[in-house]
Amino acid sequence: MKCPICRHGYTRPGTATVTLERGASTIIFRQVPAEICDNCGEVFHSAEVTEALLAQAEVVVAQGVEIDIRRFAAAA
Ligand SMILES: [Zn+2]
Repeated sequence: MKCPICRHGYTRPGTATVTLERGASTIIFRQVPAEICDNCGEVFHSAEVTEALLAQAEVVVAQGVEIDIRRFAAAA
């Protein structure tokens, strides 16, 4: 798709690292599927991926983990 941020580049499929902070917890997801702008580098995630990230983050927060680094796994 055409990048809505810079309006010049086009996004291409790739993977990105996403960091989420929730209260005292920091969760770093690696290898998250994303669309990345070839001009400005902005990263976009699908609604499904965003939902899965937030759901997994909630689990980590509930466990009281302060720092968690994991490879992203889509909900099966
Ligand atoms: Zn862009």
